[in-house]
Amino acid sequence: MEANVVVVGSGAAGLMAAVEAADQGATVIVLESEPMTGGSTRLSGAYVALCETPLQPGTREELYEDLVHSHHNDCQEDLSRLYVDEAAATHRKLEDVGVRFVRAFRFAHMSRPWAHELSGDEMSGGAEIVTRLEAAARARGVRIETDARVRRLLIEAGRVTGVNFERDDETHRCMATRGVVLATGGFTRSRELIRNFGRPGSESILPLTGQGSRGDGLLMGMSAGAGISYMTVGVAPTAPSDPETGKGAMVLYAGAIALNREGRRFCRESDLYIDTCWALLSQPDAVCVQVYDSRMKASYAQTMMGKVLTGFREFEAPTLEVLARQLAAEGFDACGIVAGVERYNVQLAGSGDTDFGRAHAVGDSGVLLPIAEAPFHAVICRAGTTHFNGGLTVDTSMNVQNVYGDPIAGLYAAGEVTGGFHGAGYMSGTFVGMALIFGRVAGRSAAA
Ligand SMILES: Cc1cc2nc3c(=O)[nH]c(=O)nc-3n(C[C@H](O)[C@H](O)[C@H](O)COP(=O)(O)OP(=O)(O)OC[C@H]3O[C@@H](n4cnc5c(N)ncnc54)[C@H](O)[C@@H]3O)c2cc1C
Repeated sequence: MEANVVVVGSGAAGLMAAVEAADQGATVIVLESEPMTGGSTRLSGAYVALCETPLQPGTREELYEDLVHSHHNDCQEDLSRLYVDEAAATHRKLEDVGVRFVRAFRFAHMSRPWAHELSGDEMSGGAEIVTRLEAAARARGVRIETDARVRRLLIEAGRVTGVNFERDDETHRCMATRGVVLATGGFTRSRELIRNFGRPGSESILPLTGQGSRGDGLLMGMSAGAGISYMTVGVAPTAPSDPETGKGAMVLYAGAIALNREGRRFCRESDLYIDTCWALLSQPDAVCVQVYDSRMKASYAQTMMGKVLTGFREFEAPTLEVLARQLAAEGFDACGIVAGVERYNVQLAGSGDTDFGRAHAVGDSGVLLPIAEAPFHAVICRAGTTHFNGGLTVDTSMNVQNVYGDPIAGLYAAGEVTGGFHGAGYMSGTFVGMALIFGRVAGRSAAA
């Protein structure tokens, strides 16, 4: 096989790169290791942080400030600048291919509701983005090959000229006359990479991500001499998850509280879920339960998170006491659970949450309610993850840099396989955002 541009991976980054490269006149082949396209993107809620759009006219300067602040002022700032500069054009491209955002949502670290949300009426947000981009790519003549796992980069005289991929136990060659784009997603499913780069305890993080998140692209980039950025700080849990089903649950953002085995709260549940998950990892047995009532359950179901983070094992009972007895069978202290909920309710009725200062359901929005209306619900959670931060070092054309900071000819990367943009922090909606925005830049650069 041969094309001007070979894209490895078919999530948001890969498909956007393919569409953009085709629009620049390049022939494009996308190679995807799994039987189905979409990767983690397909599983995601696809909140996308964007500025200067009809739904969120806030300026690039304002979003830039929020980004750098949420990255704890420790990131590759030229990538934050690129993100905001390319946000509006990427939004227009998404509209061109039929992606329709319906609302803007405000998460922690956001001075404005930057996170664009899809309706979720026909399919989840991530599935919608993948479906529309894939259709757009095919309409532009892009060839998409599934069950094709890329294993090696081909390098001639210092330039990446193609890849080897495996299919049906055979190795095939696919040449790229202009460039290869690595868009293989993250390494959340690689125990070995987590052991090498994560902090102690990171091995127990449950991945909620696509099966292809094995870090293949990271290894291939490293084998070509690529530098890596923010690997250790990037290995973090991001989603409370039911260990029985492996499904994420984020009812906290609809007003639920998190209690440990003893029935004690241990965090401000409205904070960024990464902080909640780190706090959870240091609780007895690294386990907690989210407790909520019927109103919170109904409100969660209406959000995109409630549509995507679903399918977990949910306990239900007519009274708090019965719910606590069910949880006692799972190793929780029944009296402690009842006391923990009552303490929270009493505080809300008085001067507010004096334990952790929670004033909102999520970030700075959403009214807090007592857990009071039957039936009562609970979901047991451990710390899971939807993504990691660190990855290959890139410049603002998405050209991969070697360990000395020089560009590797013919090699580009975008999305979760890259590091540097988020640095030491994170703002919700910027992972799909990064995949789409930088995927577009990578496609343009590789086609040039
Ligand atoms: C449940 C969940 C909810 C999330 N919600 C949000 C959200 O609302 N907002 C947000 O910003 N982020 C969210 N995220 C994170 C976000 O979805 C991902 O970080 C982002 O979609 C990654 O996009 P990507 O294109 O880089 O990688 P992916 O979408 O993972 O795509 C990578 C593709 O490459 C393929 N691949 C891997 N190795 C190879 C190989 N060797 N050869 C060929 N193909 C290969 C994979 O199979 C996969 O299809 C969520 C993630 C999950 C799991």
